Amino acid sequence: MPEIAAIEVIDLVKRYPRVTALDGVSLRVEPGEFFGLLGPNGAGKTTLISIVAGLTRASGGRATVMGHDVVADYRAARRLIGVVPQELVFDPFFTVRETLRFQSGYFGLRRNDDWIEEVIAHLDLTAKADANMRTLSGGMKRRVLVAQALVHRPPVIVLDEPTAGVDVELRQGLWAFIRRLNREGHTIVLTTHYLEEAQQLCGRIGMLKGGRLIALDRTQALLQRLADVQVTLRLRGELPPALRPQAFEQGDGRLTLRVASAADVEAVLAACRQAGAAIDELEVGHADLEDVFMQLMAGDRQKVAA
Ligand code: ATP
Repeated sequence: MPEIAAIEVIDLVKRYPRVTALDGVSLRVEPGEFFGLLGPNGAGKTTLISIVAGLTRASGGRATVMGHDVVADYRAARRLIGVVPQELVFDPFFTVRETLRFQSGYFGLRRNDDWIEEVIAHLDLTAKADANMRTLSGGMKRRVLVAQALVHRPPVIVLDEPTAGVDVELRQGLWAFIRRLNREGHTIVLTTHYLEEAQQLCGRIGMLKGGRLIALDRTQALLQRLADVQVTLRLRGELPPALRPQAFEQGDGRLTLRVASAADVEAVLAACRQAGAAIDELEVGHADLEDVFMQLMAGDRQKVAA
C-alpha cells in the first residue's frame, strides 16, 4: 500500500461566480518532499493552498493532509499543516513573542516556550522579540509569518510566495532554515515567482495554468524535457522552414531553437546562412526552469508557424 500522502488533492474544483479558479486538479505530495507549485498570476495556486489549509471550501473534489480530510476531519488536518500566507496580517499591538504565544494557544499548546524561543532565534528575530508588530519592517513581518506557521510544529509546511519583496540576505537565511526543516523530515510546499529559487530548492514541481495542472514532474525531468542545448538567435531574414518545428519565439524578436547536442548548433547556423538569413545575435546555453515555464505557459501559441 502506498504511504499516506503529506497532501493529496483529488479532482479539486473551485468556482467563483465569474471564474473557475481550479478546474479538476489532482496531485499527491509525498512526506519529506520539497515541492514547488508554480504558475502565472491567477493560475489558482493560492486557492489550492487555501483549500488544503481549510480556509476555503472547494466546490468539488477533496483534499487531505496526512490522510485527514480537510473538511470532514478539519481539526486534525489543520494541526498537521503550517501555512505561511502571502499577505501580512497581524494584530499590530502584539509583540513578536506575544503573537507566537497567541498562535500556540490557538492550537491548545501549553509549555511551548522553548520551541517558540528556538524559532525566534532561527529566524533571527531575537532582537525584535519584544517589539510591537506595527514597528517591524515588511521583511521582519514576513519572518514572523514563517515563525507563526511553525509554532505548532506541523509536519507539512506550505509557503505562499514567502520571499516576495524580501531582500536577498533574508531570502537566503529563510531558505537555509526551510531547507533544514526539510532535511529534518518536514514536507515543504512552496509557491514562488522566482523560478531560479524553485529550480534550486524543489525536487518536484507542479505547474498550474488557468486552474489546471499542466505539468507535474521531478525538476530534473522537467528540465530534460527541453533538449540539452538551446540556441537563441536574432536573425536578419527568415528562419529556414526546416528549422521551424524546433523554434520558439521569445517575444522580443529573438528565436530559440532546441537541439540535441552542441554539435548540432553548427548545422543550425549553416542552414540560416544558406537561406540568406544573417545572424545578428547568438547565444548558446542550457535550458533552465524559466525556459520550461515559458514554453509550457505559451503552449503552442508562440511556436513559429511551420
Ligand atoms: P497569484 O500568483 O497572483 O497569487 P494565484 O495562482 O495564487 O495567483 P489565485 O489567487 O488562486 O491565483 O486566483 C485564481 C483565480 O481565482 C483568479 O482569477 C482570481 O481572480 C480568482 N479568485 C481568487 N479568490 C477569489 C475570490 N475570493 N472571489 C472571486 N474570485 C477569486
